[in-house]
Amino acid sequence: GETKIYGILGDPVQHSLSPVMQNAAFTALGLDAVYVPFHVVPNDLEDAVAGLKALQVQGVNVTVPHKEMVCAFMDRLDDEAALIGAVNTVVREGSEFVGYNTDGLGLVDSLKADLNIDVCQKNVMVLGAGGAARSAIVALARQGVRKLTIANRTVDRAQQLVERYQPSFPDVDFLVSSLTCEALTSVVSETDLIVNSTSLGLSGESFNVLPWHVVGRPCYIYDMIYSAQGTPLVLAARERGYRCCDGLGMLIAQGEAAFRLWTGKDPGRAMAQALR
Ligand code: NDP
Repeated sequence: GETKIYGILGDPVQHSLSPVMQNAAFTALGLDAVYVPFHVVPNDLEDAVAGLKALQVQGVNVTVPHKEMVCAFMDRLDDEAALIGAVNTVVREGSEFVGYNTDGLGLVDSLKADLNIDVCQKNVMVLGAGGAARSAIVALARQGVRKLTIANRTVDRAQQLVERYQPSFPDVDFLVSSLTCEALTSVVSETDLIVNSTSLGLSGESFNVLPWHVVGRPCYIYDMIYSAQGTPLVLAARERGYRCCDGLGMLIAQGEAAFRLWTGKDPGRAMAQALR
């Protein structure tokens, strides 16, 4: 048969772990398919999507900084991707490109697999209000969290997300906070789970916004950033005895979900084995 082509669009894209992960799964399942990184600058995104279509590419992942902008170039958006306003997985369905977002599912799967938590009826705090935060908020709300506090450096952006999502999830009790130790002190104490979706700590700066003395026990800590050495948040949480993990499990789980959308097959442990 013909080799099927998949890939990832990003800028930068060279350090992405997705090619290793996806190609390992294609190999493990004996599929005649390849997954390649495509370096696409924002100005070329529309042409790139049209090119993928013409070249019969079967599907792509989309990463920074294109997840939001690529929505405009899809023929159709899945409900969850539309609610999030960002696409991380494009699937060819007949002659159409359909946009999905598997990041939130990746988070929920990783919370179960890596921290053994079911968030239903839990009190959760999401740090951040960008694209990763929106995928987390939609997925957590769908899982039936009871209370969802959104804490962001720019409080306005958090407030806008509450206004955007409260109507879709009337049973969730949404709250807003600014992302400072002082502000979090009054809202963090009853929290069961804190999810960091900010890029704070990505460049090694210390994670200094959590008032640890009032973070309850137990409270689980999930950092979407990943680092084999331990992210600043994971190191700070671990030092204080909190159950925590970084975002590698989420990266793997969002990739597994994309693979299932593309192939209809379960990649098993192939991706985790390739990365861990
Ligand atoms: P965005 O640029 O959309 O959002 C960035 C967020 O981080 C904003 O809330 C911003 O606050 C906040 N922020 C940035 N710098 C600081 C700082 N110094 N102090 C406090 N807050 C800060 O990015 P994304 O939402 O797309 O991605 C965020 C993170 O999530 C990245 O680190 C990314 O690697 C990670 N991620 C991980 C995934 C995984 O699979 N593990 C999947 C997707 C993302 P403000 O609004 O005030 O600017």
